[in-house]
Amino acid sequence: MPTETPERAALKRAAEHAFAWLDGLDARSVATTATLEEMRGRLGRPLADQGVAATQVIDDLVADVEGGILGSQSGRFFGWVIGGGLPAAMAADWLTTAWDQNAGIHACGPAASVVEEIAAGWLKDLFDLSAETSVGFVTGTQMAHATCLAAARHAVLRDRGWDVEAQGLAGSPPIRILANADRHGSVDRAVRFIGLGSDNIVPLATDEDGRVAPSVLAAALAASTAPTIVVLQAGELNRAAFDPFETLAPMARAAGAWTHVDGAFGLWAKTSPAYRHLAKGLELCDSWTTDAHKYLNVPYDSGLAFVRDAQAHRAAMTLSTSYLPAGGAARDQIDWNPEFSRRARGFAIYAALRELGRDGVANLVDRTCRHAQAVTAGIGALPGAQVVVSSNLNQGLVRFLSPEAGASEADHDRRTDAVIAAINASGEALFGGVTYRGRRCMRVSACNWRTSEADVARTIEAARAALTANS
Ligand SMILES: *Cc1c(COP(=O)(O)O)cnc(C)c1O
Repeated sequence: MPTETPERAALKRAAEHAFAWLDGLDARSVATTATLEEMRGRLGRPLADQGVAATQVIDDLVADVEGGILGSQSGRFFGWVIGGGLPAAMAADWLTTAWDQNAGIHACGPAASVVEEIAAGWLKDLFDLSAETSVGFVTGTQMAHATCLAAARHAVLRDRGWDVEAQGLAGSPPIRILANADRHGSVDRAVRFIGLGSDNIVPLATDEDGRVAPSVLAAALAASTAPTIVVLQAGELNRAAFDPFETLAPMARAAGAWTHVDGAFGLWAKTSPAYRHLAKGLELCDSWTTDAHKYLNVPYDSGLAFVRDAQAHRAAMTLSTSYLPAGGAARDQIDWNPEFSRRARGFAIYAALRELGRDGVANLVDRTCRHAQAVTAGIGALPGAQVVVSSNLNQGLVRFLSPEAGASEADHDRRTDAVIAAINASGEALFGGVTYRGRRCMRVSACNWRTSEADVARTIEAARAALTANS
């Protein structure tokens, strides 16, 4: 028997608490139940002069956060776009912590480097991206955008004879960004981070299906000869719209523009024979972002940046100093990532992909789409409810109508927010709200591996109860 060190005791205690949390998901409220004041009151002890035993720290932490941990691991969580954690991914993540590798360069953690190399190959294959595509394992789609757009910035200025890494942006030809008008805010933030300026974003209007029409992009491309980055979407937040890449990407290329795709969850449609038609032509673009912490159900934080022009990607990110031994034939993550020291994120992704296999990934996409569609249709069919959007993928929108005679759209907006609040307060399921095309809606988003048919039925019942109790 190994000696029961404080380290072993603390890790075992954490595992017991983790099991209790996961085992309790079905019984516990999905929404949090503690108030901000309660959280601050319990956690806000003075920092003592003397330290505390590790097991005590863990026990206190678990007791103090009671009611303040959101049930996003639950199969009845349909808020935002948040996946759960697959068993192998969570376990690999624990090992990542125990191994505590600095995955900045190969020399600091050879296996951490190789596991990313292998997982990158699997992912490119799943997404149908060409073999020369380079990959960065970053914190999320936000930083994947910053990484890809930095590569794009390099390439479109290189084409004008400007070395942006050396010369900076002052005095460079101004870059314009033609971006899907329904894009996620993280695109604009990435544009700010890399100094392109959000004023240089030209919105591309979308049609009633949320897609950029070829004529819209053609007109925008023709309006200027400035270096251009086009930002398209694979899976918009509300209706999971996909731009018509097979037409738009060649048009952008012919105009000398770089096409970047936000595929935070939508890129995964490519992995399913039933859904990949939605992303037709996606592989013709130049860079892509997605999250592993959403659809792949890897613990936070885990995003992916893919760049077709590996040279541009590397030029934008690389760093070499004399005290860092270069990897030679091996992959140094610092060449592809904005971070220096970093967590060995590849282990959890590698584990998740192996646990699921190709069929399992496709099945996860198919299953969660079916669940989102069933929840949207089931709640939308209740008296006083209305389906606003039932997407082709894993998102949906439902609106709740005020029963008052002569109720206005504003009354329906208020009713919608009240019903969402009532469902969430029941603890049975959790949804978020959104203003879509001027109207308040409840968002239905499913990408958790844990969601079952029983969860879907229980969620629809929770909505029925909330509607009845509040009518
Ligand atoms: C979640 C999301 C993002 C941002 O991703 P993070 O992982 O939170 O950085 C961007 N775009 C879309 C469509 C998303 O769903």
